[in-house]
Amino acid sequence: MSTLDTRSVHAGEPDPRVEGAVTLPIFQSATYTHEDPEAPPRYIRYNNTPNHEALHEKLAALTETESTLVTASGMAAISSTLLSLLDAGDHLVAPRSLYGGTLDLFDDLLPRFEVEHTLVAEDTPDAWTAAVQPNTKVLYAESIANPLLEVPDLVAMIDFAETQNLVAVIDNTFASPVNLRPAELGFDVILHSATKYLGGHSDLAAGVVAGPDDLLDDVRYTTKLLGGMLDPHACFLLHRSLKTLGVRVRQQNETAQAVAETLARHDAVDQVRYPGLSSHPDHERAKALLDGFGGMVSFDLVPDADVNAFFEALSLPIRAPSLGGVETLITQPIHTSHKNVDRAVREELGITERFVRLSVGLEGREDLSDDLSTALDASLDV
Ligand SMILES: *Cc1c(COP(=O)(O)O)cnc(C)c1O
Repeated sequence: MSTLDTRSVHAGEPDPRVEGAVTLPIFQSATYTHEDPEAPPRYIRYNNTPNHEALHEKLAALTETESTLVTASGMAAISSTLLSLLDAGDHLVAPRSLYGGTLDLFDDLLPRFEVEHTLVAEDTPDAWTAAVQPNTKVLYAESIANPLLEVPDLVAMIDFAETQNLVAVIDNTFASPVNLRPAELGFDVILHSATKYLGGHSDLAAGVVAGPDDLLDDVRYTTKLLGGMLDPHACFLLHRSLKTLGVRVRQQNETAQAVAETLARHDAVDQVRYPGLSSHPDHERAKALLDGFGGMVSFDLVPDADVNAFFEALSLPIRAPSLGGVETLITQPIHTSHKNVDRAVREELGITERFVRLSVGLEGREDLSDDLSTALDASLDV
């Protein structure tokens, strides 16, 4: 099947349909008859019920990988993967800008299993070379980083991982398979928080691990032991959501571009961070790597603007963490993802009180731009 849209609708669907049902029903059963003792048992924690199997096939078609596994959350996908790939005494390298939960996992949990890490501040081959050790086993990356929306040099990272014989792992949550398929670049394991764009409606928690079958076997075994499986009802919700992934994400790409341009023209805005704007430091790289620039837009207000007045005057965006859903969400990263980051480090990155992150939803482009403009006007009127 050729396009992502066709695959998202048809891949993994049972043939023939179950009782003729066009959509796959929910098999809310914890266990299954086991008449043939030679066959592997079907059990809910083994992630192998009919809902899991159909979903795994659809996700493999979307991520363009051999095999996939769904988990209870994005963090379950990340932790099961790293605990599968790394042994006591191993080391991993990663860029400094990473999802907060992942950084906490590196800092607080992995050291208890004698797994150490080095974060690389500069996105250059020399910086990566300086960070690598004889026991380095994994290179860990994110395709678009939060909240400055940097697009790292993924091609250089893969070259580096190949020369150093590292397993290359990437969290592709922000880009989604619509905008980037990291397996094409050579990444070994692709991770998603499906709570975000894949789920797309802010109504479920799930994670995805995708990659070669032999590697996935280890992750499946670890997930079985840690117990971070996905419930069949959540499988059903995610399965349903994937059928509209292409239309949702492409629409979000377009709206985000329009919103970013509107914001960049407003007097209350100092700087807009969107990979689709030529002012973004990684714009050229984003153009080369991505099929779309994504639905996340960050910006900061000018020092004279009143941030509280801006938030109070908004009527469409909902002030809430997370991203990727149909409702536009807005946050101040100093109160969410970067709450525990050292103030000096935050300020060096430009993440201040005035710095705002938007997850663009599916509202009308004009409505959203107008609402943001009105609120920005209000921020200057006090
Ligand atoms: C949200 C998020 C996660 C964690 O996902 P959960 O589903 O909340 O566990 C991991 N990585 C990125 C980039 C995220 O945005």
